Parts: sequence; C-alpha cells; structure tokens
Amino acid sequence: MKSVVYNRLRRIVDASRVSDAIEDRIVSSYDASRIKYLPDVVVKIITTKEVSEILKIAYTEKVPVYTRGAGSSVTGSAVPVKGGILLDTSLMNRIVEISPVDLTAVVEPGVVVTDFQKEVEKYNLFYPPDPASADFCTIGGNVATGAGGLRCIKYGTTRDYVLGLEVVLSDGRIINTGGGTLKKVSGYDLTRLMVGSEGTLGIFTRIILRLIPKPTAESTISAFFDTPDKAIEFGVLLLEKGILPRSLEFMDRACLMAVNKYRPDLKIPPTSQAMILVEFDGQPEDVNNQATQSCKLLEGIQPITLKRAVNKEEAKYLWSVRKAISAALYSITTQKISEDICVPRHAIKPILSYLNEIGASSGIPVAVFGHLGDGNLHINFLVSNPSDRAFGTSKEQEARLAGVLDKLFTKTIKLGGTLSGEHGIGMTKAKYLPLEWGRDEIELFRAIKQLFDPKNILNPDKIFSQYDVWV
Ligand SMILES: Cc1cc2nc3c(=O)[nH]c(=O)nc-3n(C[C@H](O)[C@H](O)[C@H](O)COP(=O)(O)OP(=O)(O)OC[C@H]3O[C@@H](n4cnc5c(N)ncnc54)[C@H](O)[C@@H]3O)c2cc1C
Repeated sequence: MKSVVYNRLRRIVDASRVSDAIEDRIVSSYDASRIKYLPDVVVKIITTKEVSEILKIAYTEKVPVYTRGAGSSVTGSAVPVKGGILLDTSLMNRIVEISPVDLTAVVEPGVVVTDFQKEVEKYNLFYPPDPASADFCTIGGNVATGAGGLRCIKYGTTRDYVLGLEVVLSDGRIINTGGGTLKKVSGYDLTRLMVGSEGTLGIFTRIILRLIPKPTAESTISAFFDTPDKAIEFGVLLLEKGILPRSLEFMDRACLMAVNKYRPDLKIPPTSQAMILVEFDGQPEDVNNQATQSCKLLEGIQPITLKRAVNKEEAKYLWSVRKAISAALYSITTQKISEDICVPRHAIKPILSYLNEIGASSGIPVAVFGHLGDGNLHINFLVSNPSDRAFGTSKEQEARLAGVLDKLFTKTIKLGGTLSGEHGIGMTKAKYLPLEWGRDEIELFRAIKQLFDPKNILNPDKIFSQYDVWV
C-alpha cells in the first residue's frame, strides 16, 4: 500500500488509532479459521464519518478494505487476504438506544453480543440470537455472517432481529436500509440482502435490532442414550406433540468421549452413544408443562440417564457438556476442520449415517454435535489426531479430507441442505458454492457484488470470488 494512503488515513483518524506496527498487523491477520494474511494497516474506527472518508480514499486508490469484529469467524471471512486496510470495529461499541416502547435497540457494530443481551435484560427485554461465541463476537460480525446459535428452532437467527442498517458503501456513500418499524414494505429489502453478506457489500456502522419481552421462566433437561437414533427420535416426537423448545442440542459419542476425557468431573455415562439437551422458556406454567411432557416422552424412549435441572446452577451444569465440546476436541487433536451444514430435519438421520460411512472408509475420525432442532450440524474432522497412526502424512490427510468434504457437501445438497447453516462461506467453502447454486444464481450474486462494489475493494476474494470476472 502506498505511503500516501497511510498518511491520508492518519489525517482522518487520530494517529493513535492508525497503525502499521507489525504487532497490530499480526493481531488482525487471522480469525478462528487459523488462516493468516497480514493487513498493511489497521484502523480502529469509531465514527461513520471516518469509515466514509476512509472508503473514499480506498475507492480512489483501489485499496482492499477488510472489516473485523472479534475475528471469531471460522471460515476466513475476516482475514485480509489481499492486505490493504483493516477496519477494526472493537472501539465502535456503543449501545446507542434501547426502546422498551418500540421493542427496538440501536447499536454500533462492535458491541459484544452478551454485553448487549445483559443490557436489554435490565429493561425486561430479550435479544434471542445466541451464538456459542456470544461472549466475544460482535453484533456487526453476527449481522455480516447471519449468525445462528442455540435458540434458532424457536426464535430464528440474527437475520430475524435486524430491522435496519446504516451502511457505508465502497465509494464512501452512507445509506440507510429498513428502519425502526416492525413492518415495512417500501422498496427492495436491502437489509435482508446485507445480512450474511460477509463484509463484501458494505460496512455496517449502525444496526437497528428487534427485541422481545424477556421470558420469565426456563427449564433445562439432558438425556444420554445408548443409540443416536433415540436422540433423533425424541426430537421428532417432541415437535409432533406440538412442543417447541428454545434449544434442542445433539452430541454424538465422539464428542461425549472427548468431553469425558477433558472433563471427567461431568460424569458422562461410559456407554453413551448420544446426548440431547433440551431447554424451554416462556411463562412458568407453560414451561413446567412442556418440561414435564418432555420427560415423559424421554422416559418412553428409555435413556441411560435423564436429568431435569431444578435451578439455574443445575441448568448451567447440564450445559457444561455442550459448552466443553470445542476445547475437548482440541485436547484430542491438533487440528480440526469444522463444517456447519444444515439439512431439513427429516434428513438428519441419513446424513449422520452417511457420515459414519465416509468417516469409516476415509479413516478420518469424525465428531458431530449441533442443533437437532433446526438441522444445523457441526461436523468436525479430526485431521491431525496424533494417536491415529493409520492416518498417515499430512499430504495424504489433505487429499483424504478433500475427498471427504466433497462427498459430505454433495450429499448434503442432494438431501436438500446447505453448505452453511450459520458460519457463512468465507474462504474455506468458496470453491463448493457451485454445488449449491447454479450458474444463473452465481451470475446474479456477482452482478449484485459488482453493483455495490464495482472496484472489488470490500473483502475481496471471499464467498465466490474465484468466479469474479471484473477484477
Ligand atoms: C468457539 C466458537 C463458537 C462459535 N459459535 C457460533 C454459533 O453458535 N453460531 C454462529 O453463527 N457462529 C458461531 N461462531 C462463528 C463466529 O463467532 C460468527 O461467525 C460471528 O458472527 C463472527 O463475529 P465476529 O464479531 O467475530 O466477526 P468477524 O469474525 O470479525 O467477522 C466475520 C465477518 O463479518 C464481517 N464484518 C464484521 N463486522 C462488520 C461490519 N461492521 N460491517 C460489515 N461486515 C462486518 C467481516 O468482514 C467478516 O466477513 C463460533 C466461533 C467460535 C470460535
């Protein structure tokens, strides 16, 4: 990047927030995918005007611009693959307004999700989107990735709570989409287009969110089974009875055994082949009825153990198994490739048995957990398991992994599913996009990208960029 650009940036933003020091560049060079590329300069933005002025320069000089929330993306979507300017939103983190009358809030993009959830609860309000990374990821990142989480079966995803956005376009123009009303059918729905756009169409500088009244009661239940089919069967039965939990989580034996090794204090029954965690919320009487009915259904399926939390402490304890999975898997492998396919609920059983098949034939250990309620499964390939001697060299691993991923994604699409339920495409899944979308759809995506970002400076080389013809 030319030094003239750097000097101009320092005239727009206080010098203390613009840095080309190697330590600042390294900190912003990677996300949770572990892919790394150094940006040329890191700018900690705090106002919309700054973002607009920076983009005017980037547009004129054709410098790539990458926006970073907390860098917790698992697909490389936050990685500055072409260098250039990295806009860090961590200081742009004010909760501007919470309106108990309108049930809305206005926030800046760098607000951390749990900080926001805690703040709205002071008004007896509830912001349901709850990614497992909520303690550190930002609302801006959630909007840009269309983040899901643990409560989607009942409450939907981040997409369902974004009412409007202030967006800075690639040439520095500032636009507004949507607004503060629950209903709005005026013009095209640019808000929906922006949600999940992974920083490729514009930079969000303000976000209007929908809130709902806070549920007054919660109930959590966990059960271990001697076969995964029983867990799946329970999910179907529950919904058939018209009972809608807010979370319905699944863990397979590989996850449970990893957690057992990592947290023996959680006392996972050694014969467990699967676990479900189900949680209800709402009015106390309803919640109690739903939890009681669920326990009856579960007893009918004969789980190994069944526990119903009687207080918040116990609920937290039941959740510990689910929350320990990521760390537990890293404790048994040096690397894991995590995919987040989503299939219609009827296809959960077929995709799980297909995974057993391809896991066994490739020799790659697979661990699966996820959201049984919405069909979004986190499939972890443990590619560098030191104890798995049969696995061979890393080149062989890569070839085998590529074959397995091809098979997994092809089968997922065949079953009516999608490559990503919540993490997005980023870099890691870009080459698989044509499995899910035809030529006409990808052409349309490209045309939209070109309209919003004619010089391809916003998060270039992401989502479908190998099909870009105008670069
Ligand atoms: C342990 C762990 C658990 C996770 N659990 C979940 C889960 O349950 N559900 C889920 O959906 N995801 C989950 N994730 C993935 C990740 O947390 C989400 O994708 C999250 O939305 C990313 O937010 P972030 O602030 O870290 O954004 P980043 O990773 O910094 O950025 C993600 C994308 O958003 C863009 N972006 C960020 N801010 C803006 C902005 N203001 N304007 C425009 N574009 C912007 C970036 O350019 C990038 O493309 C998990 C990740 C980890 C590590």
